[in-house]
Amino acid sequence: ALVVHHRMKSSGKWAQAQSILKDFEEKCGTPISKLKQVADAMTVEMHAGLASEGGSKLKMIISYVDNLPTGDEKGLFYALDLGGTNFRVLRVHLGGKEHRVVKQEFEEVSIPPHLMTGSSDALFDYIAEALAKFVATESEGLHFSPDRQRELGFTFSFPVRQTSISSGTLIKWTKGFSIEDAVGQDVVGELTKAMERIGLDMRVTALVNDTIGTLAGGRYNNPDVVAAVILGTGTNAAYVERAHAIPKWHGLLPKSGDMVINMEWGNFRSSHLPISEYDQALDTESLNPGEQIFEKLISGMYLGEVVRRVLYKMADEAAFFGDTIPEKLRIPFILRTPHMSAMHQDTSPDLKIVATKLKDILEISNTSLKMRKVIVELCDIVATRGARLSAAGIAGILKKIGRDTLKDGEKQKSVVSLDGGLYEHYTKFRTCMENTLTELLGEEVSENIIIEHSNDGSGIGAALLAASHSQYIGIDES
Ligand code: BGC
Ligand code: MG
Repeated sequence: ALVVHHRMKSSGKWAQAQSILKDFEEKCGTPISKLKQVADAMTVEMHAGLASEGGSKLKMIISYVDNLPTGDEKGLFYALDLGGTNFRVLRVHLGGKEHRVVKQEFEEVSIPPHLMTGSSDALFDYIAEALAKFVATESEGLHFSPDRQRELGFTFSFPVRQTSISSGTLIKWTKGFSIEDAVGQDVVGELTKAMERIGLDMRVTALVNDTIGTLAGGRYNNPDVVAAVILGTGTNAAYVERAHAIPKWHGLLPKSGDMVINMEWGNFRSSHLPISEYDQALDTESLNPGEQIFEKLISGMYLGEVVRRVLYKMADEAAFFGDTIPEKLRIPFILRTPHMSAMHQDTSPDLKIVATKLKDILEISNTSLKMRKVIVELCDIVATRGARLSAAGIAGILKKIGRDTLKDGEKQKSVVSLDGGLYEHYTKFRTCMENTLTELLGEEVSENIIIEHSNDGSGIGAALLAASHSQYIGIDES
């Protein structure tokens, strides 16, 4: 008991580091039995969230999208995609069934970090400014008829209580944004005021979550798309529900009979979720404690940070990196998920990339191959848990809409549109998620479930929805 950890023999330290890792691995366990419980809990919460407002941690937000793109959409439309550290402005020329997307142009603008935690006006002024600059590049050939107002689909990837297809109030921020005076405000109103302040004449005709945009973009290309999932900085899902299965919907029954639901599954939680002490600490110290628990186990904003926290513990209690704790390792969020992914997928024989990342990011040098292997294993534990939980979430949705079993003789395809950096760039994560889904649904059912990458569908999707909700519909042909 008198032996303090930094004077422990190195074999003792090693064993201690191993035991920290093993403990963590156990806490993160996702055997198929547990994943089935998670999927079932997801289905149960979906029902509860649809039954009444506030009936579940899952908000199950009614999007007011009751018609998905058909291909007939025509005209020139703008879109704005805001949801992470970048935002994109798009100009899309839609040519109807025959010509489809005639042309699309976009520009990506990064958001200065101080604007993510500043005031609503400052953020929206910045966005309106960038949008105005982009509008100014509109070419002669695509020129708008002067009597027509430009129209915009606004993809806003945060929880919004929709009040119509083109309005909605911000419920809360996620993913590192925290702008107090915007909470409770109509985000379309905020954007419109900012556009007016600089004399940009444009009308928002559709306000959509990125999951809804991705669903719309996916459906435009494939009529079998039934759901969309984002695995990126944050995570969320949307799907097509039958309107009569939404007890809390008191509006008219849409002609299509359908209503798209933004689940906000990032806020899902369940006693079945594998949560470790590191996740608990991460949550407590986050900008939104107690919220977005599923997201904190799965999404790109957090995976690297979980790894950092476990490494810190190993440094502190098992002197994993020597007698002192590397200074950089104390800095929250310094280890980003792309770094983690690079280390995890390092195929060089001596794990050179792991060594380089440790040196460049954490200023840790002289790691042994044995240590680097431990780090790869740690990344694997964190990514595997996230990937398997996201598969369980998708299985829960498929169960809710009755696509998790084979209807006799029916070979109906169900396509799920996926997007987000985690899905797109973290191959081991994606592969694990896809394999787990097959494991959960069984080979036979899985043959009819298709995961399709919807590359930046959320922007195009918003433009498509802006088109189908245009104020000029029925007035003339464009
Ligand atoms: C937000 C969702 C969004 C998701 C993916 C989450 O943090 O709450 O609205 O769809 O991130 O961008
Ligand atoms: Mg996006």
